[in-house]
Amino acid sequence: MHKNIISLLLLSIAAVATAGGFYNPWEEIVRPSTGQHQIFGGYNAGCLQGASAPRDTGNGFQYIELSRNKFWGHVSTHRFIERMGSVLRPQGMSLLVADVSMPRGGPFTWDHASHQVGLDMDIEFLQDPRSLQRDLTIDEREQLPKYYLADQDANAVIEKNWSEKYVTMLRTFAQDDAVHVMFVHPSIKKKICENPANRQSWLAKVQPWWGHEEHVHVRLKCPADSPNCKSKPDFTEIGCDTEEFLWWFSEEWRQLYEARKKWQRDNPNPEPVPLPSLPTQCQSVLKDAGTR
Ligand SMILES: [Zn+2]
Repeated sequence: MHKNIISLLLLSIAAVATAGGFYNPWEEIVRPSTGQHQIFGGYNAGCLQGASAPRDTGNGFQYIELSRNKFWGHVSTHRFIERMGSVLRPQGMSLLVADVSMPRGGPFTWDHASHQVGLDMDIEFLQDPRSLQRDLTIDEREQLPKYYLADQDANAVIEKNWSEKYVTMLRTFAQDDAVHVMFVHPSIKKKICENPANRQSWLAKVQPWWGHEEHVHVRLKCPADSPNCKSKPDFTEIGCDTEEFLWWFSEEWRQLYEARKKWQRDNPNPEPVPLPSLPTQCQSVLKDAGTR
């Protein structure tokens, strides 16, 4: 598994170095397409026809950074947020939801490798006390600070920022049937693993990944209305005591981490990675005149 991660990272660096002149039509589009609400393709290479906009605030949730126009999703995503908000609000939490997808899904040039079909969403760890009292204004929701649960360089949880409510949050998400997998900083999973009571089946859906120290990435399963949605790539369960999980705290990981940092320092303006090839239906989604 970790060998795969290393070759994947080296491959993406090589791809970055060879990309030429660049245009991403998906990022030019400001409105969703017409047509039946459905997904074509998968999380890392797909698009979304007839995307749905969320109610931007509700019981226990508020969408943030609306100016990014990346709140578009499959309706199951917006329903998921509403469901989670109503469960977590009585427990003193309010969800701040950042990027879902662009108006027609599709690939980003820089922001995300996935988030292409309206089923991936980033939920902040920040719990703004004001958001428990009232809806934040749209301006306030543009300027929220980041709240870090983990320190990337130390590769460890920031204990003073940690709270058991994050276990409740992640467990509540993971226990929802719609959820396929979630990604957090490895040290966050490690922290949860430390309590034997947390070692339940739900924890399998909480997977370690790079970054994700101030938000959790939640990925839903393909919905029933989208026969052309592909839920691959699948994920391999990485248990608390497995070699795959312990790799994230190994000397080999540290060397790779430092190499990545050095590469980023040496290449402050890298060329973008070429766009993935998408299902043919995505051409029609892209060309559609769009909604008013
Ligand atoms: Zn994400």
